[in-house]
Amino acid sequence: MSQTRTVAIVGSGPIGSAYARVLVESTPHVKVVMFEAGPQLTSVPGESVRNIADPDDKARAREMSQGPQSGRYRESLGIPAGVVVEGMFTARQGTHLLDFGGPGSAHAPTFPAAAAATNVGGQGAHWTCAIPRPHGSELIPFIPAREWEGLIETAESLLHAQSAAFADSKVGEAIRSILDEEFGAELPAGRGVSTLPVAGDPQPDGSMRWAGADSVLGPLIDPESPLAERFELRDLTLVRRVETDGGRAVGVTVEDLRTKETSFVAADAVIVAADAFRSPQLLWASGIRPAALGRYLTEHPVVICTVALDAKKMERFATEADLEHELERRAHNAADPVAAVNRIPFSEPGHPFSLQVMYAEEPPFQLDPAHPAAGNRWGYVNVGYGMRKRPRVEDGITFDDAELDYRGFPNMTIEYELTDVEQAEIDEATKRLWRAGETLGSFVAEPRLLPNGSSLHYQGTMRMGDVDDGTSVADPWSRVWGYDNLVVGGNALIPTATTMNPTLMSVAIAVRGARRLAAQLSGEAGAAAAAPDAASVARSR
Ligand code: FAD
Repeated sequence: MSQTRTVAIVGSGPIGSAYARVLVESTPHVKVVMFEAGPQLTSVPGESVRNIADPDDKARAREMSQGPQSGRYRESLGIPAGVVVEGMFTARQGTHLLDFGGPGSAHAPTFPAAAAATNVGGQGAHWTCAIPRPHGSELIPFIPAREWEGLIETAESLLHAQSAAFADSKVGEAIRSILDEEFGAELPAGRGVSTLPVAGDPQPDGSMRWAGADSVLGPLIDPESPLAERFELRDLTLVRRVETDGGRAVGVTVEDLRTKETSFVAADAVIVAADAFRSPQLLWASGIRPAALGRYLTEHPVVICTVALDAKKMERFATEADLEHELERRAHNAADPVAAVNRIPFSEPGHPFSLQVMYAEEPPFQLDPAHPAAGNRWGYVNVGYGMRKRPRVEDGITFDDAELDYRGFPNMTIEYELTDVEQAEIDEATKRLWRAGETLGSFVAEPRLLPNGSSLHYQGTMRMGDVDDGTSVADPWSRVWGYDNLVVGGNALIPTATTMNPTLMSVAIAVRGARRLAAQLSGEAGAAAAAPDAASVARSR
């Protein structure tokens, strides 16, 4: 029997969890130790806080995710929960701003809404769970199309994808019908108005149990599963350095945040999946500094509005009884902002945007009771377009060895600019947003561009490439160029200009990297073929 191989994973979000799952399931010789700087929020590691029905418990879990530990739960680096306007402005609940303005704050005047979550499950404990597939030029050109299809299917299984979530909602259907009347004729076949795929499991009462890192980890956190014996999660453990020797990673130096003790943990491979800012920062702090590290930062700019649905228009497609039924379903978890979600996906050349339309019975902010649309019987939609940002070396993070941040890492300065190319697409999408709003009802918040960083979908800072020409950090299997056992994961790997929510794509990229690493670690050339396919992952949910 061959020797057990230890893999150290930095970060417990959906991507670190995907690596853990595929590695442990692929080869019996791998043991995974996952390090997470933040605390575990509930008894289920990595669970979505959206599943917590009690508003106080939910608020507590969110506050625990918002920064270094102290205070009642921990000192928040985000904005206080009472001030947060969920789904509309930054910072979102459960996240903390990088440029929070206090001692040790990052500097991000041109990307002010940049945020992170620090907790078991990462941002994946707070996410909206929208998982559209990338399409056309959003795809990575050097990953073969057929392989990509299989990777996406596995990623969808890991995330418990529901392509028809809320498809039975008559309110959702009415919204689609209205949008289709306005836009349908302009859209190519198969890329028209449709439901937005989401990650979660529909419950018998019509609500959803939203997926988080817990869903991705699956049997690894099931005490009844033998696989759980080869998985260890250490929360409140900050990885300070990835240790290397020549061209190999040899382990990690970690700080136990409870005891403040520092120790070295040896590993046969290291995976860094600590988000698109803190992963490159950790590599930099570890002396691993490829030219493209931290550069080519992109996100999709967001224009957004809120609309009170027009009763007359809605009543053409849905009845009062349909509305009653919808409100009844929503009452099961009233604090969950996610309900019937529709979209118009990205298509080229005519619609290089992603439109997301989220129904809610209340607006996402306090509406003056005197406002004519207050208490609107048919409810509201938050409508937002995501646009492309072309990758440029000028946009990104610089690290300062002489100025440490609040965690003691080389501090970050983010430089970012939207060019005329982006502005033209933003202008075009904004026009369509006005059309979408006017066709659905009346504005309670008119279309506007959110500050840079608001998408929470940060990409490109550890981009993958097919040649080591200085414009990428990782090879096509997510290994840092020059290191065959140092793997990076997350949205930061995405090298293309995308308009959609990136987590599904990043999980697919992670599955590819994990299969390759599993083959490498087991020393069997054909081991990649034995990695779980979508069907076997689905069976073992
Ligand atoms: P993360 O989930 O960010 O996890 C990284 C983890 O690494 C964190 O827990 C962090 O504490 C830990 N870490 C950092 N540094 C260290 C260190 N040195 N040592 C140990 N641990 C460390 N995406 C979508 O696709 N669809 C959506 O609908 C969507 N909605 C979102 C809504 C909100 C409110 C938020 C906040 C995010 C949303 N996202 C969405 C983004 C999505 O959550 C991320 O794409 C996803 O979580 C990225 O996974 P990850 O594992 O790469 O990183």
